[in-house]
Amino acid sequence: LPWCRSLPKIELHAHLNGSVRSSTLLELAIRLGEKGLINFPEVEAIILKGDRSLAECFKLFDLIHLLTTDHNIITRITKEVIEDFASENVIYLELRTTPKLNPLAGMTKRSYVEAVLAGLKAVETVEVISNTSEIQQNGLVMTRPKESIHVRLLLSIDRRESTEAAMETVQLALDMQKFGIVGIDLSGNPRVGEWKTFMPALKLAREQGLPITLHCGEVPNTSEVQNMLAFQPERIGHACCLEEPEWAALLQSSIPVEVCLTSNVRTETVPFLRDHHFVSLYKSRHPSILCTDDSGIFATDISREYALAAVCFGLTKAELLSMARNALRHIFCGDEVKAELEDKFKAMATVID
Ligand code: IMP
Repeated sequence: LPWCRSLPKIELHAHLNGSVRSSTLLELAIRLGEKGLINFPEVEAIILKGDRSLAECFKLFDLIHLLTTDHNIITRITKEVIEDFASENVIYLELRTTPKLNPLAGMTKRSYVEAVLAGLKAVETVEVISNTSEIQQNGLVMTRPKESIHVRLLLSIDRRESTEAAMETVQLALDMQKFGIVGIDLSGNPRVGEWKTFMPALKLAREQGLPITLHCGEVPNTSEVQNMLAFQPERIGHACCLEEPEWAALLQSSIPVEVCLTSNVRTETVPFLRDHHFVSLYKSRHPSILCTDDSGIFATDISREYALAAVCFGLTKAELLSMARNALRHIFCGDEVKAELEDKFKAMATVID
């Protein structure tokens, strides 16, 4: 694990509200408990529970969203989540989050995203580089101090949303690209919502050049998986429940898969780690990226996900390094950032033992 921690890493599938520290959730729950707004002992038991089914996870997300309602809290959790990834030596993070409306807290989807951006600025333990213009100043490529993390945002469409709400999220992402929004994600309870509802928004994103990643095949749903693969998103997440023809179509495509080992086992979308489809993807040399999904909810971190791949599937240090390095090819950010990060991997390659 210490070696996996020291490895520079790229995190491409992390949900903001799923990555909140349990200690922060408990602190927020105590405050709401004191105000009589929740039953604290009940909430504490839910937060501290280990394994949970996919359905229980979505109940927990609703609870977390109750705790993280106002702008200041959104800013705080964003700051903490970035600090946590940086402490695992993540050098590039694409953090995704669902912009939320909360009229009671005076929150619009835009002000929610602004609160997230304020969280990026609030980080003090490491330098956060959040848009391309920060890399070049006066036409010169800046040399970064050793301790820095590039952070970009993906805006998520929740599968509970209407076409109009999804369109609003895509429009917001387009309007806020200059602040480091680099793509769109489709996520949320996979048993809710229909592909045709989200298509107009995803098409708009595509037409405007915004890359897209889709949660795909978390539960069996052949027609949706077919539609998703035919859409050719820039990446997909999970890909757990694909039938043989769809699996073959995926392997024939070059669509990279964001692999979330612990999440898939904890939510029982994959029964045992040793049977995880990562093995097939890896053996087929299909582009795959190890990711955390919800490090807070599943009590994991990105170093642990790399260590699991090493222990369970026999990946060597050199193989782990190339997995981390190859993830760079699939980031939604421009070539200048890739080149800068590639240098960090080159330096690591020379010291690997
Ligand atoms: P948020 O978007 O920052 O609020 O992060 C939590 C949200 O991410 C959840 O409410 C879900 O919509 C989504 N999410 C997190 N983990 C998963 C997953 O494993 N599958 C599908 N959606 C997820």
